Amino acid sequence: MLELRPNCELCDKDLPPNSSEARICSYECTFCASCADNVLHNVCPNCGGGFSARPIRPANPHREGVSLEQQPASKNRKQCPFNTAEIEEISATLRDIPPEAR
Ligand SMILES: [Zn+2]
Ligand SMILES: [Zn+2]
Repeated sequence: MLELRPNCELCDKDLPPNSSEARICSYECTFCASCADNVLHNVCPNCGGGFSARPIRPANPHREGVSLEQQPASKNRKQCPFNTAEIEEISATLRDIPPEAR
């Protein structure tokens, strides 16, 4: 099950589970759309992968046992462990290579 993390790892913006601005990599590293597009240029600083929009878990149960109420979002705020220079370096190295070729 996808871990719905509460914030952007870079700018710490709140990304509630119904946010259409949340972006994730395949490891669920989570960023806001602005950081993903304008700072990271579709390069996750933790793994080098690309981003997709985070799917929104339904607030209300439409099938038994599955909804945000039953599987709530994570409250564990994360922060990217790399510094600005390290982030810029991996982004510059990978941004022109499509994720499917990295
Ligand atoms: Zn951000
Ligand atoms: Zn990642």
